[in-house]
Amino acid sequence: MSSVAQKQLPLRPAGPATVQRLLDWYDAERRDLPWRTATGARPDAYRIWLSEIMLQQTTVKAVTPYYREFLLRWPTVKKLAAADLDEVLAAWAGLGYYTRARNLHKCAIVIATQYRGKFPQTERALIKLPGIGPYTAAAIAAIAFGEKTAPVDGNIERVVSRLFALQLPLPAAKPEIKRFAQTLVPASRPGDFAQALMDLGSGVCTPRRPSCLTCPLQPDCHASAKGIAEELPRKLAKPARPTRFGHAFVALREDGQILMRRRPDAGLLGGMLEVPSTDWQAKGTAAAKALRSAPVDTEWWPVPGTVIHTFTHFRLELNVFLAVVPGDISPNLWAEPGRCRWIPRRKLEQEAVPSVMRKIVAHALKWQDA
Ligand code: SF4
Repeated sequence: MSSVAQKQLPLRPAGPATVQRLLDWYDAERRDLPWRTATGARPDAYRIWLSEIMLQQTTVKAVTPYYREFLLRWPTVKKLAAADLDEVLAAWAGLGYYTRARNLHKCAIVIATQYRGKFPQTERALIKLPGIGPYTAAAIAAIAFGEKTAPVDGNIERVVSRLFALQLPLPAAKPEIKRFAQTLVPASRPGDFAQALMDLGSGVCTPRRPSCLTCPLQPDCHASAKGIAEELPRKLAKPARPTRFGHAFVALREDGQILMRRRPDAGLLGGMLEVPSTDWQAKGTAAAKALRSAPVDTEWWPVPGTVIHTFTHFRLELNVFLAVVPGDISPNLWAEPGRCRWIPRRKLEQEAVPSVMRKIVAHALKWQDA
């Protein structure tokens, strides 16, 4: 039979046979990830929760060393709850989206104090905890506790919208995708079903050039049959990301210590350490004006080039100034000395310093050391 003739046959709707093929494929092809247990073993909710929070907007490759380090330092949710927030932020540094780390700590405290160290076992209860949204609640409930629910992340959105050829664009399509995904969840192995969809979306049903020929869902996949897989899921065009501008001041003491300042707890990069800088604004300010905000009174040198960093909602462009200052210098009052401290440059790695600030320090020191 020709492939043209095959396409003209009415497709079966995806159903239990589709799910079974997916589970068989998962048993043979599943990714070996550090937070996964052997087939048949009950996964630990703490590990699933930790990995799911870390994996939000972050790749498996980036998450794996952080996940291992967190488990070594805090092998249980109670131990994590007893840690200092600053320690947790420092261990998280480099992983980005730091609100996750603050909520992780907050959530650990709630579980340790209100649930005696045991995670609640339903999606409905999990979603009330700090930092746990609809996807994470469903993922923990399905994977750790076997609840018949469908977590829907970006990978699963793609697979489900293609399997059923759903045309409504994201984000409006989210409830519809969740509804269709929910129709497939099997009563037994709902956690494996969710993880199978995650693996399929990650390695087979990829955004570009999905491998339909090797896909276990292919016999029932409407997007594949219609030849529109790559067009789905449809998405509304995102508004352009605005740029903000600022000036950052790297003060390097003669003994090799760098002036860092703790950011306010609320807001972007809350509670993390920063290189003192001007506000980040939609319009750039002249260097002479910016220097009035410098954290120490000294001679500042403009470092050639700019540091560019992309956050979710805006792009940041910073000019950097460097000053080498004597060991007894004090920060200006505006820099709030209570929030400022000198940190040896070699110890910055162990502190809660976000990527953008590491970039700024590296940019200045590279020029200084050249
Ligand atoms: Fe994705 Fe193709 Fe599989 Fe459909 S058949 S789910 S489009 S990889």
